[in-house]
Amino acid sequence: MKFKTQLLHSNGGADAQTGALTTPIYQSSTFTYGTAAEGKARFAGEQPGFIYSRMGNPTVQALEQQLAKLEGAEEALVLASGMAAVSSIFYALVSQGDEIAFIDPVYGGTAAFLINTLTRAGIKVSRYQSDDDLLENISLATKIILFEPITNPNLRVNDYRKIKAAAAKTGAITVCDNTFLTPYLFKPLEYGIDIVMHSGTKYLSGHGDIIAGVVAGRSELMQPIRTIALKHIGAPIGPQEAYLLQRGMRTLALRMDAHLAGAIEVAEFLATHPKVNNVIFPGLASDAGHKVLAETVGVFGGMVSIELTGGFARAARFLDQLQLFTQAVSLGDLESLACHPASTTHAAMDHASRLAAGVSDDLIRFSIGVEDPADLIADLKQALEF
Ligand SMILES: *Cc1c(COP(=O)(O)O)cnc(C)c1O
Repeated sequence: MKFKTQLLHSNGGADAQTGALTTPIYQSSTFTYGTAAEGKARFAGEQPGFIYSRMGNPTVQALEQQLAKLEGAEEALVLASGMAAVSSIFYALVSQGDEIAFIDPVYGGTAAFLINTLTRAGIKVSRYQSDDDLLENISLATKIILFEPITNPNLRVNDYRKIKAAAAKTGAITVCDNTFLTPYLFKPLEYGIDIVMHSGTKYLSGHGDIIAGVVAGRSELMQPIRTIALKHIGAPIGPQEAYLLQRGMRTLALRMDAHLAGAIEVAEFLATHPKVNNVIFPGLASDAGHKVLAETVGVFGGMVSIELTGGFARAARFLDQLQLFTQAVSLGDLESLACHPASTTHAAMDHASRLAAGVSDDLIRFSIGVEDPADLIADLKQALEF
């Protein structure tokens, strides 16, 4: 089956008991096992069956099975947030004294977790400036490598082939935060990456109405992540959110196609505008990441960033004039969003680290929605006059 067909036909089909075509919302915290012997067997893992919704829920399980199919994974896990996904992966797979690596920049919350919290657990956290830097300079003690194929917020491209080559030197587990691309555009597991994760809050759900996280990979890796995430940290997704994520995913391909087309039009307009100092969008042939993304993914995502000259004051003047673009963090919603990362999502980084990671004070990030691109361009054009 092609992916678009799979999106609609991989949800397990009609409910066996009622014939309901969409997954029912099982709003129950606990599940009776009926007899003491059955209870004993379920707890021992000898009998299948639900026990308690922190550890498993039928609505959530249906979504996990669907996501495993869509990612080409043995197993998928859906959690309360993308950050629950990030933290569970690391807490499950590293121990005191281990070293992990990431390629700067990553999502602000991810960087803060790794640098501020994981280091307190006695983990050495090494940051690299690019895929080439990682490949050339990787510490041979590295246990896990985390990367984003298109970095947030400055849309630099990391080549998964270089990440794999670096991992091969140390035997490291590779983790791809694929939030910006989704399995419709890129399935890292098919290319030999060990673990894929998402903020399901963004394109996967697509409507800006939930917070969710996804992890998928081989069962051998997923089992410890599942245990830590659900039993110890206790970050399951609720059945209502799981339902909304599955509902949103039904239109993933339709929405992504519209985001991609809109982003190209908007980026091409911005590239010709005299007041825009720099347009960062891997879909432009002039962009540093264009060639690699064209070879590896074939499309360029729905995010566009620009730099204006004049730091926060100039960015604020422009942002405050926008009528259609909403000033908000997050991305992948149906509506277009705009933000100034240095003063918001990446404000917790010190100035020097921000600059080293390519997050300048001039940078503005757009999540291109599914509005008519002509209206988005008109809005950008009028706001740039100020
Ligand atoms: C939003 C985001 C996260 C964190 O996800 P939450 O759902 O907000 O917890 C992680 N990675 C990327 C790339 C993101 O955009």
